[in-house]
Amino acid sequence: MPMWNPWHGCHKISAGCKHCYVYREDAAYGNVIPSNEVRRTTSFNLPIKKDRKRNWKFPGGTEFALCFTSDFLIEEADGWRDEIWEIIRMRPDCRFFFFTKRIDRLMECLPDDWGEGYENMAIGCTVENQDRADYRMPIFLSAPIKHRLLIAAPLIERIDLTPYLDPALIEEVSVGGESGKYARPLDYDWVLDLHRQSIQKGIPFSFHQTGSYLIKDGRCYHIPRPLQHSQAKKAGLNSLSHEIIK
Ligand code: SF4
Repeated sequence: MPMWNPWHGCHKISAGCKHCYVYREDAAYGNVIPSNEVRRTTSFNLPIKKDRKRNWKFPGGTEFALCFTSDFLIEEADGWRDEIWEIIRMRPDCRFFFFTKRIDRLMECLPDDWGEGYENMAIGCTVENQDRADYRMPIFLSAPIKHRLLIAAPLIERIDLTPYLDPALIEEVSVGGESGKYARPLDYDWVLDLHRQSIQKGIPFSFHQTGSYLIKDGRCYHIPRPLQHSQAKKAGLNSLSHEIIK
């Protein structure tokens, strides 16, 4: 699944951003441009790149993970987003998805022909605690979106999502912990709780990564970064299709 990052950089907006991986990765790679400075990248036109024979570089059916080193709805990209919608319109044979902590900006960022949503575009609303779930979910559920994904990550407390888990509106629930040296621990009971809430409503569920610290049976385990996805998978809770990369 190719990552399409037409812009890079983001500013922190809520509690879940505290140890944002974009900032960590920038620091690790010695990037000199501050992580909160949003700039266009050389991948801006990725889905419409062609090979030497003038065929699409990415064949029909490709699913693009959009804006994983920024937020697709960030204000600084308002002047660039129309070009992205145009590129998406040029590839109706591909699928796209993005996750956002700025779902409250969606309506002002949509293209004129959006209608009830593009069939090939899924949007994920990210929530990290009860407060942000209660703020973002009503906005998310009432927005014109054809495919909704709910991402509880980095999960930093127990959340009750039951008021929002309408299987007619939410296609998938995915849960993950926080990575990095200073990560807040993820309590496995919170994961099981969201798994139960989702399955009771008949919504597919994924535990996509443990984060760096996982509390289970009263013990806190340090999970090295390379094992965080595989350890979560081993829990055997997964029943969904999207590969969450963050
Ligand atoms: S919205 Fe996402 S990318 Fe932006 S600072 Fe927060 S965690 Fe990082």
